[in-house]
Amino acid sequence: MVQISEVKDSQSRESRTAAHTHIKGLGLDEFGNAHAIDGGFVGQKSAREACGIIVDLIKSKKMSGKAILLAGGPGTGKTALALAISQELGPKVPFCPIVGSELFSAEVKKTEALMENFRRSIGLRIKETKEVYEGEVTELTPEESENPLGGYGKTISHVIVGLKSAKGTKQLRLDPVIYESIQKERVAIGDVIYIEANTGAVKRVGRSDAYATEFDLEAEEYVPLPKGDVHKKKEIVQDVTLHDLDVANARPQGGQDVLSMMSQLLKPRKTEITEKLRHEVNKVVQKYIDQGVAELVPGVLFIDEVNMLDIECFTYLNRALESSIAPVVVLASNRGKTTVRGTDDLVSPHGCPPDLIDRLLIVRTLPYSADEIKSIIAKRAKIEGLALHPDALNKIAQQGVATSMRYALQLLAPAGILAGIAGRSEITVQDLEECQLLFLDARRSTTVLENTKGYL
Ligand code: ATP
Repeated sequence: MVQISEVKDSQSRESRTAAHTHIKGLGLDEFGNAHAIDGGFVGQKSAREACGIIVDLIKSKKMSGKAILLAGGPGTGKTALALAISQELGPKVPFCPIVGSELFSAEVKKTEALMENFRRSIGLRIKETKEVYEGEVTELTPEESENPLGGYGKTISHVIVGLKSAKGTKQLRLDPVIYESIQKERVAIGDVIYIEANTGAVKRVGRSDAYATEFDLEAEEYVPLPKGDVHKKKEIVQDVTLHDLDVANARPQGGQDVLSMMSQLLKPRKTEITEKLRHEVNKVVQKYIDQGVAELVPGVLFIDEVNMLDIECFTYLNRALESSIAPVVVLASNRGKTTVRGTDDLVSPHGCPPDLIDRLLIVRTLPYSADEIKSIIAKRAKIEGLALHPDALNKIAQQGVATSMRYALQLLAPAGILAGIAGRSEITVQDLEECQLLFLDARRSTTVLENTKGYL
């Protein structure tokens, strides 16, 4: 009835933040001072303190029209800092990381792509009261599933999901819409979910750590959810982004109210999002903000390698920063002075035109010491569930100093695989040496190419 299988995370946007799962905030005390190790961070104290002041400025609405630039070498924590800023702004604040070069695609205009990412970075928190079934998902025994169901007065042969709540276990039969929703939410046994009585939408409110399971049901098992047997009224808070609403309403089917906009979220399709559609979505959003049903949650748009943007993108960016619903824009660069793309000879710091530079608060990130690199690697190894022999930790930290921390961090996973193959639970120096032979760092790979030039 319920098949157990592993839940895989395939979303590329999520995987982009996967390297930062140890980051939980800026790790500052009540006076805004950074502890050497806190919030998942190691070192980089001045930058963290500067970002703390920026968070205060954002909260007191003194950042409008301005943006932040994090300037520093590769792997010095610029993305991690931007993520931490979004975490400090509150729970469920959108964080949208992009790389400058990805705005240039053959299919979508670059300013269009930029606009889309702006809208991904602006959240909308909608509060509604709904009738729901709520409880913890439990697995039912074969005996239980054959039992006559109290409220429904029928014996059924397939009970799909049991919801355990304070009132006891309720057995719910699911129709295809709910099943689809259950799959979309990747519901597992042990999770706390609610099912909306009217729409059948399923929302996970608590995650079970014990299992990584999902339901796998046969089509014949679907039967409708009984009507008129509602558990309770619940104030539901939904967090979506403006981009979610654009996508969901690209071909609106229902009315232009928040409920039908939300129900469209269940069935997203790939259709064009036009300027007109965004305008319509904005109008409805504004109406619901005015009525107190929804509030805007500006998030963080992080643009790495800002020197990859061209003058047209910068013009757009300047204008977008002026908008009343702009997210916090954090730019990052590891370049010094360079030509602004799309101009012939305009050389400017970080490849940003002077009118944008004027709007920036610039924070510098510094290279790490050997000890800091060691602590960061130890943190990542722990999060990735990899045990390192002390000698191996020292060796990989040395690697980080000699090449780059990125390179050292990237050696962790393959070294873990090698250790596993050798039947060891701990990564040893030998595993690392083998990995270093298999995977080159940038300096060695360029040397190899230069030495073989004559043969190519
Ligand atoms: P790039 O500009 O090259 O993309 P970056 O400056 O954005 O690099 P990050 O991606 O933030 O660097 O850092 C690389 C890895 O090191 C990430 O896993 C990040 O979470 C981690 N990291 C960086 N700095 C710190 C720090 N001070 N404390 C803990 N972890 C850190």
